Amino acid sequence: MIPFSPPRIDQKIIDSVTEALTSGWITTGPKTKLFEKNLTAYAGHVATLCVNSGSAGLELILRWYGVKEGDEVILPAYTYAATANVVVHCGARPIMVDSGDDFNISVEAVRQAITPRTKVVMPVDLGGYPCDYDEINALVKEDSIRLLFRAETAEQQQLGRILVLSDAAHSIGAIYKGRKTGVLTDITVYSFHAVKNLTTAEGGAICLNLPFPFSNEEVYKVLNTKSLHGQNKDALAKTQIGNWKYDIVEAGYKCNMTDIMASIGLVELDRYDNDNIVRRRQIFDTYAEAFRSDERFIVPEYFTDTKSSSFHVFLLRLRYADEEKRDAVIAAIFARQVAVNVHFRPLPLMTYYMKSGYYIHDYPVAWHNYCREISLPVYYDLTDEQVSTVISVVKEAVTEVLG
Ligand SMILES: *Cc1c(COP(=O)(O)O)cnc(C)c1O
Repeated sequence: MIPFSPPRIDQKIIDSVTEALTSGWITTGPKTKLFEKNLTAYAGHVATLCVNSGSAGLELILRWYGVKEGDEVILPAYTYAATANVVVHCGARPIMVDSGDDFNISVEAVRQAITPRTKVVMPVDLGGYPCDYDEINALVKEDSIRLLFRAETAEQQQLGRILVLSDAAHSIGAIYKGRKTGVLTDITVYSFHAVKNLTTAEGGAICLNLPFPFSNEEVYKVLNTKSLHGQNKDALAKTQIGNWKYDIVEAGYKCNMTDIMASIGLVELDRYDNDNIVRRRQIFDTYAEAFRSDERFIVPEYFTDTKSSSFHVFLLRLRYADEEKRDAVIAAIFARQVAVNVHFRPLPLMTYYMKSGYYIHDYPVAWHNYCREISLPVYYDLTDEQVSTVISVVKEAVTEVLG
């Protein structure tokens, strides 16, 4: 079986983890702080807080911005549940909108969905392909949209408009008009889950890039405390002589990154652009060439004049399939020992969200994209020979099912 997305675990990773384990410090400490510093330098935003998952990072920001019952957060229907679940945790309502042909949130649909209750927009760079950020950032700054905004907390007053929070779980290293995700919106959150491009097994990072008059360094401190039960000194600081006494300044959360996780991330980040991304792009290009010349397939947009994907998920579509036929094609692919996937089942199809009153028919583009989508294996250790196998297996499976 060719697996879908195994992590890259080689001697370098093992050595780095071993070093962390034997260093005498395994939870948040010097390695996490170095990883934060390196992530900040990588994308060029102002400050980075590492956390134990992308979901925790998104939720921490919603909590920081004061999102609560009665508020609305606009996000795509076409995403993983994490994007919407964190909004529900805060007691707010996820306002789902439709996507475009590139799988990303439709800016026009965002505009239609804005109300006086809107506090945050959460675009998702699906499969690693950046959203239309110039348009999204311009939209929330329009005079008429600003006038609608009702600031209810100090942070909301300071920003004076809807916060743009990118769910960049897929898109670390993606480029939009020469700039990386991390600097494209007010705040960006990466995920380092095991299947993501850059992994720490589980983990995430919050990239702070808030405009004046915010001090991103100050916001970093607030979030850091929030991620550690509202405790004013972290475990490492407390080990210093005479520094044992601590205070709890709020009922915070517990979602800090450990140095064991960071020890994986440090190696991964070091070789990300020059190695991982390069290989992923080769695989994307090979798939694109093989499927573009066959009219039964639609190749995803992943590289244009202004946008470059992080090459996370290759979102192939079958031009002539419906959901049932697509499912049959997937079964035929698995029968040939290749693991594929679907990214994603739109949230209105999920029991919880269906019961909460979302209807898939309100999202025709998301539905149409989903019905025909098959995600192909993309990872560093996938060999050229395996890439060829995937291509021929997918084509055979389509011929078998669709003729
Ligand atoms: C993986 C993922 C997340 C959450 O990341 P975790 O680190 O697993 O919490 C959020 N949004 C999207 C679109 C994802 O795919």
